[in-house]
Amino acid sequence: MRNVSPWREPVPLDGTMGEPRARGRFGEYGGRYAPESLVEACREVDEAFRDAWTDPGFRGALARLLAVHVGRPTPLTPARRLSESLGVQLYLKREDLTHTGSHKINNVLGQALLATRMGRRRLIAETGAGQHGVATATAAALLGLEATVFMGERDIERQALNVFRMRMLGAEVVPVTSGSRTLKDATSEAMRHWVGATGDSHYCIGSVVGPDPYPWMVREFQRVIGDEARAQCAAELRTGVPDHVVACVGGGSNAAGTFAGFADTPARLVGVEAEGGAGAARGRLGVLHGCRSLFLQDDDGQITEAHSIAAGLDYPGVGPEHAHLRDLGRARYVTVTDDEAVAAAVRLARTEGIVPALESAHALAWVIRAAGDGDLPAGTTVLMTLSGRGDKDVSTYKELL
Ligand SMILES: *Cc1c(COP(=O)(O)O)cnc(C)c1O
Repeated sequence: MRNVSPWREPVPLDGTMGEPRARGRFGEYGGRYAPESLVEACREVDEAFRDAWTDPGFRGALARLLAVHVGRPTPLTPARRLSESLGVQLYLKREDLTHTGSHKINNVLGQALLATRMGRRRLIAETGAGQHGVATATAAALLGLEATVFMGERDIERQALNVFRMRMLGAEVVPVTSGSRTLKDATSEAMRHWVGATGDSHYCIGSVVGPDPYPWMVREFQRVIGDEARAQCAAELRTGVPDHVVACVGGGSNAAGTFAGFADTPARLVGVEAEGGAGAARGRLGVLHGCRSLFLQDDDGQITEAHSIAAGLDYPGVGPEHAHLRDLGRARYVTVTDDEAVAAAVRLARTEGIVPALESAHALAWVIRAAGDGDLPAGTTVLMTLSGRGDKDVSTYKELL
């Protein structure tokens, strides 16, 4: 029996999810741990982003791209049949309905537009399963930029379709053969490559990770999810603001963008991680890819590999702002297993006619569990970001079902 509420009172709120403190700090996390030449390149990105983000011309151009090319605003969908069986009122923020099928395009278009403004002609990106690579290749094609995407050799074998998509979109896909030949190594290699190319290339990071200003900048580009959802909730919910706001967390960009829209409300924020990729729930302080945050580590402090059925959650760490939100008690981080996620995906498919991405299914799996064990009291309103559609995962679902 549970005799202690898992909920601490939401800590308001001043300064949370605003700008980071000096030197890109969120509490004790964040920063810019990079070689000298990249510190300079990050400084240039920071300056360009600050300038662009206060320029109505840039904001307007990005908003228009998001409207006419991505399909924003995305709907807020009441999950009626599922809500009825769970006893809570669940609303889905539909990032699965965006062009390319996930929230990643919001960030990538922002960074691609910024790169153009900085006079860069090429985007460099890392990718794991290929989703961020496809989004980057898409944005590059749209804006007339080149794209070079680093991808672990093992991931290239596992994700042949996305590799083909990137090439069809005109991107160069560079196989990474070091280490475990997956996302962590692809990220290291992309950063190394950027060192020699900062003059003409922008490094387009795919989540709220990496050196300052990336965690902050990527969250701001994803804030559109939370801002739209806040307005949609105000219009549709009796209470105006949902009681709970839930999103899955890999590096943490869709969650950060969603949370940003509700940080100054009493809504309880919940980030759902994969059991095998729980940087926020189980990580320890470390430095990786230019940033101080929480990472899965072995007893010697070596950062270990994550393991999740959802490729987008297969990252051994979490963005620095999530680590800070956890310390503050402003957000809570929970984990679900692969099996729970697959079961949740089937349940959403059969009650609402939506096949979710495996990543998004993690968020739903927690909602289902929490509605069952009273963690989400009956009648509460829940906003959940459905970060992506399940097309990319059908072969995994097919193997398991
Ligand atoms: C990449 C991805 C994620 C995880 O990334 P975050 O930065 O944590 O949002 C989640 N869902 C989908 C559909 C993805 O493609």
